[in-house]
Amino acid sequence: MAQECVFCRIIAGELPADFVYRGRGVVGFRDIHPVADTHVLVVPEIHIQDLRDLGEEHAGLWLTLAQVANQVARELGHADGYRFYVSVGAAGGQTVPHLHVHVLGGAMRRIPV
Ligand code: AMP
Ligand code: ZN
Repeated sequence: MAQECVFCRIIAGELPADFVYRGRGVVGFRDIHPVADTHVLVVPEIHIQDLRDLGEEHAGLWLTLAQVANQVARELGHADGYRFYVSVGAAGGQTVPHLHVHVLGGAMRRIPV
C-alpha cells in the first residue's frame, strides 16, 4: 500500500467508498464525481501507478480488470454496452496515480477528454 494514495486508502478501508464489487484482487466503487448515470472505477488492490507500469506478470490482472468491468456494467444495467477508458499519466488526464479503469454507462453528461 502507498501511504498517500487515495485509492490504496479506500481499499484499506481508511476512506469511504460506495463499493459495487470486491474480489479477484480488484475492487469496483462509484466515482465521487460521476459523469454518467453509472460511473464506476475498477481498481487493482495492489498499487500500480499507471498503465505504463504493467508487465507480463500483470497479464492476468489486466484480464480481470476487463472482465470485472464487463460484469459490473452488466449488473448495473448496461449489457447493451458501456464506455471503458483509462487515463495514463498526468499528460493523459490521470488525476489519481493508482491504475484504474473507468466504466461509464447510460447517459453521459460529459465526454471525458
Ligand atoms: P482519472 O482522472 O482518470 O485519474 O480518474 C480519477 C477519478 O477518481 C476521477 O473521476 C475522480 O472523480 C475520482 N475520485 C477521486 N477521488 C475519489 C474518491 N475519494 N472516491 C471516488 N472517486 C474518486
Ligand atoms: Zn495506491
